[in-house]
Amino acid sequence: MLSLWKVTLCYTNLRNRGFNCRAESLESRGLNNGQKQSKKKVLVVGSGWAGLGATYHLCKQGFDVTVLEGGVDSGLNAEPCSPDEVGIQGFWYPYRNIFSLVDEIGIKPFTSWVRSAHYSVEGMEVEFPIFQDQPQLPSPLGVLTHTQFTRLPLLDRLTLLPLIAAAVDFDNTDAAWRNYDPITARELLRQFGCSERLYRDVIDPLLEVRLFAPAEQCSAAATLAVLYYYVLAHQKNFDVMMCRGTVREKIFEPWKDLLRSEGCEFRKGRAATDFFFSEETGCISEVICGNDRVKADAVILAVGISSIQEIVKKSSALCAREEFLKVLNMVGSDAVSAKLRLDIKVTIPNACNACSRFGSSSAWTFFDLNAIFDEHENDPATTLQADFYHANEFLPLSDEQIVSKVMSYLSKCIVGFENAKVIDKEIRRFPKSLTHFFPGSYKHMMRGSTSFPNLFMAGDWIINRHGSWSQEKSFVTGLEAANMVVDYLGEGSFAKIIPVEEDEPHIEVLCSFSRNLNEIRSQLPWSSYFLK
Ligand SMILES: Cc1cc2nc3c(=O)[nH]c(=O)nc-3n(C[C@H](O)[C@H](O)[C@H](O)COP(=O)(O)OP(=O)(O)OC[C@H]3O[C@@H](n4cnc5c(N)ncnc54)[C@H](O)[C@@H]3O)c2cc1C
Repeated sequence: MLSLWKVTLCYTNLRNRGFNCRAESLESRGLNNGQKQSKKKVLVVGSGWAGLGATYHLCKQGFDVTVLEGGVDSGLNAEPCSPDEVGIQGFWYPYRNIFSLVDEIGIKPFTSWVRSAHYSVEGMEVEFPIFQDQPQLPSPLGVLTHTQFTRLPLLDRLTLLPLIAAAVDFDNTDAAWRNYDPITARELLRQFGCSERLYRDVIDPLLEVRLFAPAEQCSAAATLAVLYYYVLAHQKNFDVMMCRGTVREKIFEPWKDLLRSEGCEFRKGRAATDFFFSEETGCISEVICGNDRVKADAVILAVGISSIQEIVKKSSALCAREEFLKVLNMVGSDAVSAKLRLDIKVTIPNACNACSRFGSSSAWTFFDLNAIFDEHENDPATTLQADFYHANEFLPLSDEQIVSKVMSYLSKCIVGFENAKVIDKEIRRFPKSLTHFFPGSYKHMMRGSTSFPNLFMAGDWIINRHGSWSQEKSFVTGLEAANMVVDYLGEGSFAKIIPVEEDEPHIEVLCSFSRNLNEIRSQLPWSSYFLK
């Protein structure tokens, strides 16, 4: 696999920049013309999808990459932790860059496609099939037709159709975000005639587990982007695979071993706390982590929303820049995860389940780990994980109180849980770790480049135009940040980023019609006079 890397590297450089393959390999070993040539040094802060994505490409380009693997210790867990260490992660059909990556590094971390369901206190509301196995219908008819709704009448389902007009109008441009971001998802759905039951039983819970906040607190722009990406663009986009263990164990560790073998240095437990910049060049020259100062030619900050806020508050360099101060207006949402081992085997019909309307204001998911994790495949009893999002009400509870709530909720979904006892538990809290895309948040979000010429940003809360979300978006923004470094340092070739799948022909026609209509509207007198 490593040799494959080198072949690809030589090929892309030859093609794109006319480098000589042999000269480059000599140069990367510092032996060119008998002189020791130093490689350009890049520092990556954070080792989630965004940080590792950037590191991967930059190592391939021959840069000297160091990764700081710190993290904010909230005091609520024994040690700082990120979702990839404990959270259970789903990988949806459109995560094309991640699927291509795992093929490239030669690992097989995923289950096959899994079926999922949605529960309320009244029991199962919706069961989702594997959409790619169903007859393919023009979007969104497949999702509406093949999904099995236990109680929701057809008339309610059809009230989703007018929302297509907003979805085609929202083209993920800056103008579209500014147009839709100020209103809430609930208001948008109300304007487009969504029925009360469709909203309550399907859309609100779906948004809660994808945008990690209730629909009345979510930006309509983020809602349209998420609904389009996961539900409306293509029938099969709703299909999901799960990681067969933690992402850390199944993907990041083998990936990091590969990076180490290429010379990348990982500094564990080293949180970046401040930055020095040179008045002369305007560039970041050093990153402070604890008592160390690390020099770098370029820096990528790839940390989550609460971490960047902590860094900005402590950093005199970042505090002096408007784009970093604005980030302090962003909001992180809490998550709590409970992994439970029970004394008996309970039959869970679907491996992956979303739940809502259980008394607390948060939506939650539960996963059958016997069906997903290799390590629990042959367990004689049930092992499951429940994750709570927007979990403000759960965070202060003791582990025992959380377990008791989880078990009472689970019993309302599946009768078998009533007789089960918890024999082991692992509770993790992620305060402010998920980005809350609240109405009006767009204007506070950062872009990949900053006012420091050599400081770049990556993560699932960064503005980009790719159209992906969550882990795939983080990975893509990592590659985009790596490309900015390549551009800034003038060395190496650009990472190839796979775009989201093209729209279906009928959607393309609707999008073009919507663009023309907007064009005509913008030319009408008074077009910018009224509040949009
Ligand atoms: C409970 C839960 C369930 C989720 N489920 C899914 C799912 O099923 N599917 C999906 O696609 N997404 C899911 N997500 C979202 C997904 O986890 C994130 O989109 C993704 O992890 C973001 O990756 P990232 O690299 O941008 O940030 P992170 O994963 O947060 O990585 C940032 C890294 O930076 C480190 N760091 C922080 N501060 C510093 C510092 N000062 N110095 C050095 N390092 C630092 C952190 O320790 C961390 O390792 C879930 C999230 C949670 C919390």
